[in-house]
Amino acid sequence: MDGREIRLGDLLDDYCPRCRLLLDHAVASMVGAQVAKVICQTCYTEHVFRHGQSGKRKSDPRATLFDQVLSKLSDSDPESAKQESSVPAKPAARATSRPQRKPPRGRPK
Ligand SMILES: [Zn+2]
Repeated sequence: MDGREIRLGDLLDDYCPRCRLLLDHAVASMVGAQVAKVICQTCYTEHVFRHGQSGKRKSDPRATLFDQVLSKLSDSDPESAKQESSVPAKPAARATSRPQRKPPRGRPK
């Protein structure tokens, strides 16, 4: 942090989502001076550098899951609408579309 330059391949501690531990990681990629991805030196999983955080963010991950469920529900909305339209009342249009006017006889050719 104090001016020490981090380079690719440098080892640093980070939380490995697979090992679920704070372990040695090698810097795999960087964006500018920021470490972007690291590779766990225990399981060799490459993941986003978490700055030693356990991946738990302020927002509850369940919220995103819930959002996913919500989006799935909204996706199924048209289907339920389809179900509604597939059980239509008797087509009233047919009664009105019934020709009540007699076709004029002797229509011009
Ligand atoms: Zn690991």
